[in-house]
Amino acid sequence: MKDIELNGITLEESREYMVNIGEKGFRGEQLFTFFNRNKGLDIQQAKVLPQNLRESLAKSQMITKVDILKRFDSNIDSTKKYLFLLEDKNIIEAVLMEYDHGFSVCISTQVGCRMGCSFCASTKGGLLRNLTPGEMLNQIYLIEKDAKVDISNIVLMGSGEPLDNYDNVLKFLNIIHEPKGHNISYRNITLSTCGVVPRIYDLAKENLPITLSISLHSPFDEYRANIMPIAKAYKIDELMKACRYYEESTGRRMTFEYTLIDGINDRIVDGERLVYLLRKLNAHINLIPLNPIKEYDGNRTHRDGVERFKRYLLSKNINTTIRSEKGSDISASCGQLRRDYLERD
Ligand code: SF4
Repeated sequence: MKDIELNGITLEESREYMVNIGEKGFRGEQLFTFFNRNKGLDIQQAKVLPQNLRESLAKSQMITKVDILKRFDSNIDSTKKYLFLLEDKNIIEAVLMEYDHGFSVCISTQVGCRMGCSFCASTKGGLLRNLTPGEMLNQIYLIEKDAKVDISNIVLMGSGEPLDNYDNVLKFLNIIHEPKGHNISYRNITLSTCGVVPRIYDLAKENLPITLSISLHSPFDEYRANIMPIAKAYKIDELMKACRYYEESTGRRMTFEYTLIDGINDRIVDGERLVYLLRKLNAHINLIPLNPIKEYDGNRTHRDGVERFKRYLLSKNINTTIRSEKGSDISASCGQLRRDYLERD
């Protein structure tokens, strides 16, 4: 772990760092811009800085390096999935997707995950460690350079529970939003959580207009606890209360992710309960057809069933969409790519 990660600090911290080493504060801004606007990787290329400063920064071991290990291109759409190699040889994954509104990237926030959701490949080896802000930023910058695209939307929905790596994720958000850096609007960032209730309150108090997306997956505590251990710690009523607080504090509409599993959470009673739970929220539901992983034997709901569930929610005035499946030919579900790679090699 580095004491300071020069490509994972805020603009203010970058200025402070330069002043602390006897340089002028504006050098910090130049450094920040080099990493976050120019997506610079090799500090020797930061020609705006004096050569002796570049050399001492290069030797400092304070710049986090991430490499693209492998890229998988979908044959059915323009989705690209990336495996990245970290300095400690850990592997993470991210996905680039193209939509009508632009390019979106889904990044990881941890190596593995300790939340234990039974339908998720990311958690099968547990949590190995948190990602640093620099490692999160680098996933985006490396993809943009490799695919020659500019990202307009970011989703924190890859491996890891973002609210379980709270401070680093918050710093990442600050950096990626900074107008002197990449300048991504908070409104174009979605943070997905399995429902770490105390952290939802903390996040609400930060008052960032990002979209908060809750992985709900069942409207019943009992079922939810079967597939998501977090539900044993925080009941749905507590979760809904936190969501209302978030919505009231930030003025942002809540999004709920709902992976449909045949016979488990796609019944009429599930739909009815869902409508009841969301009645006090301006909620949007994203229905996701299950991507089976070999460690979980649930079946996906049939296409007709997904449509029926959607129609029911819409008839009750709940905004509902079915998530379009991107890159389903290249190991689609969260954490599956990394897991397949680790098992093979
Ligand atoms: S779904 Fe998200 S929170 Fe749950 S185990 Fe997977 S990565 Fe972790």
